Amino acid sequence: MISKKLAEAINDQINMEYYSAFLYLDMSSSMDAKGFRGYAYWLFLQYKEELEHAEKFIAYLQSRGEKPVLMKIDAPEKVPEVPLVVAEAAYGHEVKVSRSIDKIYAMACKEQDFATASFLKWFIDEQVEEEESTSEIVDLFKLAGEGAGALFAIDHKLGSRRPE
Ligand code: MG
Repeated sequence: MISKKLAEAINDQINMEYYSAFLYLDMSSSMDAKGFRGYAYWLFLQYKEELEHAEKFIAYLQSRGEKPVLMKIDAPEKVPEVPLVVAEAAYGHEVKVSRSIDKIYAMACKEQDFATASFLKWFIDEQVEEEESTSEIVDLFKLAGEGAGALFAIDHKLGSRRPE
């Protein structure tokens, strides 16, 4: 049994994960259009990961006997088509997602819903990785500056990401 309040918070999180997927897919198209095929591929894999996150939350609600409520997904925020700006926006977005999951975790603890708290632990750990990987990309593009050679090398490196 999960409270209405917690189920609603998880429904909102499902929407946020789908929004994240949209945001990354849009960023991926932008980077592809600008010739950064490696980063575009990295962002595309990230898009797919976000879909999986949403599905995990959906499956959890279902396992607790709740029907997920799917809501309208906002259009992705427009981000200037510059790799460093995209990377900074991605990092900023992940920080927001972490805060959102922390809030649900705090709510679960307050309600003594330990099953939900336990389920959320995976996401708390995942967010540490998401913040780390997105902030590393910010650092890489900062280091590269306007250098074509460095940008090319970073793009190539990001393109070697493997699906999990
Ligand atoms: Mg996510």
